[in-house]
Amino acid sequence: MILKTNSSDAENRLKIIVVESIIPEFLLTEIQAFKARNSLAKSYSIQNKEITDVCCSQCLKAFVLNQAKSQDLNKKTIKSIEKQFDCEIGHDGYYIDNEELIKT
Ligand SMILES: [Zn+2]
Repeated sequence: MILKTNSSDAENRLKIIVVESIIPEFLLTEIQAFKARNSLAKSYSIQNKEITDVCCSQCLKAFVLNQAKSQDLNKKTIKSIEKQFDCEIGHDGYYIDNEELIKT
């Protein structure tokens, strides 16, 4: 039997593995917690049978960079993490976390 592979799905899985290897474990845990407390919607993946929280990418990027800087990660790692988010950092110098406006 020949199984067709979905190249974009494989590429996405590879991208997730690469991103997870760049982002330290503590930050991945913080990202999951941020997404859960700031969830705007739920997303369901048929392939993975997973329900995930969807949040504002700009707020998440600002939060992740704040966390990375507060933990004194080196500049190269912070730059690599920043490149994983293809969006602006927060909104005009602020982001929202748990209904609280926080300066970036
Ligand atoms: Zn936002």
